[in-house]
Amino acid sequence: MSDMNPDIAAEIAERRATILQRVGAAAQTARRSAGDIALVAISKVQPDDRVDAMLAAGQRVFGENRVQEAQARWTERRERYPDLELRLVGPLQSNKAGDAVALFDVIETLDRDSLAKALRKEIDKQGRTPRLYVQVNTGEEDQKSGISPQVAVAFVERMRRDYGFAIEGLMCIPPVGEPAGPHFALLADLAKACGVDRLSMGMSGDFETAIRFGATSVRVGTALFGERG
Ligand SMILES: *Cc1c(COP(=O)(O)O)cnc(C)c1O
Repeated sequence: MSDMNPDIAAEIAERRATILQRVGAAAQTARRSAGDIALVAISKVQPDDRVDAMLAAGQRVFGENRVQEAQARWTERRERYPDLELRLVGPLQSNKAGDAVALFDVIETLDRDSLAKALRKEIDKQGRTPRLYVQVNTGEEDQKSGISPQVAVAFVERMRRDYGFAIEGLMCIPPVGEPAGPHFALLADLAKACGVDRLSMGMSGDFETAIRFGATSVRVGTALFGERG
């Protein structure tokens, strides 16, 4: 932290400025306000020095896809950056619900009753309430988490009624190798149908398209941090 590599710091600051510029341009094209679109820096698999450089560049909203990796990385950094916002964007096992509720400000991957039950219990126990998004499997892929689009509206209603959750928005990850636009359009329609106005959609390859379809947060990893294995 104190001996941050100045080359990495400059590179990361420049990358972030470029992505923010692209978000701004896409917002303008869509006649939307750039301030209505949050850039979520997906820091999974990134080395600590690049994450610290991103923090130094002013980035405060980060997304992780694994609870344990996120704990290791953020538990202490959280103390240093009280205005940090941490989002879980990967699948959550019910037995990790406690850790997730303790660490994350937003959980974007609620997609089943067993998880809702576990989250409700932990929220009551810890007195800490992360904001919740429902993940929709817009491509209906077998291997992907998320609720099927056909039952998404009923699911959101059940989350409100049976668990008392104020669902903030919907999230999706379109199938690889398909145009993302129709998936973003579907997610926007579903959000309207269940009365939520936040849409977490768009990654490095398609965040500008997502903004055109109404994304209120875009989850950008490689385009922001650079390629890495
Ligand atoms: C990894 C990941 C991203 C970021 O993907 P990039 O293509 O690197 O921008 C976004 N959302 C989720 C759910 C991810 O797992």
